[in-house]
Amino acid sequence: MIVKTEAIVLRSRKFRETSKILTLYTREYGKLSVIAKGARDRRAKFGSALDSMNYVVAIIYKKENRDLHLLTQCDSIKSFNKLSEDMDRMAAALSIIELVEVVTRAEDESKALFNMVVQTLEAVNTATTNAMNVLYFFEMRLSEILGFRPNFHQCSRCGASIGQVSDGTKEGELHLSSGGVLCGKCSHERIGHGIISAAGLRILQEIQKVPHGEAVTSMTLSSQLRDEVHTALRRHLQTHIGGLHRLKADAVFSAIM
Ligand SMILES: [Zn+2]
Repeated sequence: MIVKTEAIVLRSRKFRETSKILTLYTREYGKLSVIAKGARDRRAKFGSALDSMNYVVAIIYKKENRDLHLLTQCDSIKSFNKLSEDMDRMAAALSIIELVEVVTRAEDESKALFNMVVQTLEAVNTATTNAMNVLYFFEMRLSEILGFRPNFHQCSRCGASIGQVSDGTKEGELHLSSGGVLCGKCSHERIGHGIISAAGLRILQEIQKVPHGEAVTSMTLSSQLRDEVHTALRRHLQTHIGGLHRLKADAVFSAIM
């Protein structure tokens, strides 16, 4: 079956003398591995469309019950060419790409997730400040799309609304939980995983509220707040997604923290 689909190139690697194998996150068919024969020839017909993080339209000869499909044509819709201009943008984009690779599967299409990936990469690409916040925005939306939106307004144990964070806690800190956060009373009983400060919690609530990724690039966070927000969101994802350990992109990330 020959299919045409929009896709994001998650990974592109050399194969044998002249070919490439790509991992594509497609709009209609989820994550697919494809081979681009002759992609490394001098007269290559694909040009630079096969580079990772490109937004493309691909024509694929899709074989039933096979893991590797044949890419027959691939044209760039958009290359997010500013991603490599600074470390912040690069780290955010690499993390997004890697998260998508971990959470998606073949034939598991989600237009909501696909659109979110395209929009978020675009927001990172154009971010002149605080590009990492766009990653946090993406992690928040990813949880939502996958069905485990964290609740940072009510205690996930007793349901009490989270008012003054200092209530019942010594240092104005609350404990995180698998569903979001614990109230002062439940935090006091120390059954949570990790802690979040009042300021960190407000940032999480704000990121959850904004309508799109561009909206968070004006929020400048201290490195301690970045660390708290990053840890809270990543722990939340790790609790709900099997096999999500430390991302390779985190090595780039920790270099800029
Ligand atoms: Zn509680």
